[in-house]
Amino acid sequence: MSSLAPTISSVSASLPLPLKDDQPADLNIPDNYIDWVLKNQKPLPPITWSNWWKRLNRLTLTILLLTHLISIWGVFHVSLCWKTASWSIAYYFITGLGITAGYHRLWAHRSYNASKPLQYFLAMAGTGAVQGSIRWWCRGHRAHHRYTDTELDPYNALKGFWWAHIGWMMIKPRRKPGIADVSDLSKNAVVRWQHRWYLPLIIGMGLVLPTVVAGLGWGDWKGGFFYAGAARLCFVYHSTFCVNSLAHWLGEASFDEKHTPRDHVITALVTIGDGYHNFHHQFPMDYRSAIKWYQYDPTKWFIWTCQLVGLASHLKVFPDNEIRKGQLTMQLKRLKDTQEGLTFAPDVNGLPVISWESFQEQATKRPLVVIGGFIHDVSSFMDEHPGGRHLIAKNIGKDATTAFFGGVYDHSNAAHNWLSMMRVGVLHGGTQHGLDDKNVPPAQRMRVMHYHEFGSASSSAWSDEEGIGG
Ligand SMILES: [Zn+2]
Ligand SMILES: [Zn+2]
Repeated sequence: MSSLAPTISSVSASLPLPLKDDQPADLNIPDNYIDWVLKNQKPLPPITWSNWWKRLNRLTLTILLLTHLISIWGVFHVSLCWKTASWSIAYYFITGLGITAGYHRLWAHRSYNASKPLQYFLAMAGTGAVQGSIRWWCRGHRAHHRYTDTELDPYNALKGFWWAHIGWMMIKPRRKPGIADVSDLSKNAVVRWQHRWYLPLIIGMGLVLPTVVAGLGWGDWKGGFFYAGAARLCFVYHSTFCVNSLAHWLGEASFDEKHTPRDHVITALVTIGDGYHNFHHQFPMDYRSAIKWYQYDPTKWFIWTCQLVGLASHLKVFPDNEIRKGQLTMQLKRLKDTQEGLTFAPDVNGLPVISWESFQEQATKRPLVVIGGFIHDVSSFMDEHPGGRHLIAKNIGKDATTAFFGGVYDHSNAAHNWLSMMRVGVLHGGTQHGLDDKNVPPAQRMRVMHYHEFGSASSSAWSDEEGIGG
């Protein structure tokens, strides 16, 4: 560790280092960046019952509170007609797509290329969701992906569901999010345009446009403001927030269980398709969240349609082979857990080797039968035998291999597995020729093994005689 000392001391204690505008922000960070920050940058004092009100993020809190209060007041005082209801739902999807297809998949992850008209549409739609500028949002989101579940993750899901959902915005964070480069976005003309006009754009797209459409369209100015404006905004908020909370909490780790992201269709339904979050954290630059075309992911369908009409191109898709490897790993892990929860036949090496004479002598004292070279004590099973006790009784002290494997009845795999549990010894002289396969109970012909258990065969992988394969 001492070799790291010069690196650390040469880095100023206040990252990021001063860089030229067009340089990536993370160009000069130490290799042990996370440890370095946790050691060298002190967090703000912890939140307690006596000081929490001083730590509130007043601006965000006001916006969130106001939109919710206005919506609730509207629900009780303004009647909702079907035209306004339809418009509110449509505008929910438009502004939601601005976040999922625009902010998230296009700008935060560069998962496809968008033409200028599509970029302006997404920037404006995303502004209507009132979640900060593209640049600010993507900077936080890139930090979330890079430092998932650590102190440097702005919406660290390990701090609890509600912290990841909304708490991180309402209380000033104790640490700055970890460094993440957004120099590409600083150069993007549409991102700069949105940043410049952000305040008039959020008022226009967040409240004025939804009100004016309903007002000029069918005379429902009030409904436009309360439902398509405020209430719709609340729904878009919680839809996006669920990607940080619900998507890190509900469902299956289909590709990797190292971190909290999970896959679930319910999350997909409430987030306009961002619900397959375990996949997304594994393959963040894939333009899809749900890999199967029919799985609910309207954002993916939208991007795909944009490509069809020439508005989007270069849709990124991770190689199917690599995706399936992740799935296989998790499937094998689950199988191994099942395997380890079961009891199998005793290990052959642990069984005593017994001569034919000794077997016959012992079989006079307890019911022993030879099948496939193994000696079985069938005392607990004789009365349970579906074919009747007599068929076992007549084979005691004998080799019943032929009778068991088809001579009398070709026993099922289940019977063979159960029989193997009654093994008490190995017959000296080995097994009959041609019975090798029958020595192994069907349930033990395939095993899930950790690579540590593979044995020494893999050591040859370190040989350098053949050079590096192409
Ligand atoms: Zn996430
Ligand atoms: Zn993401």
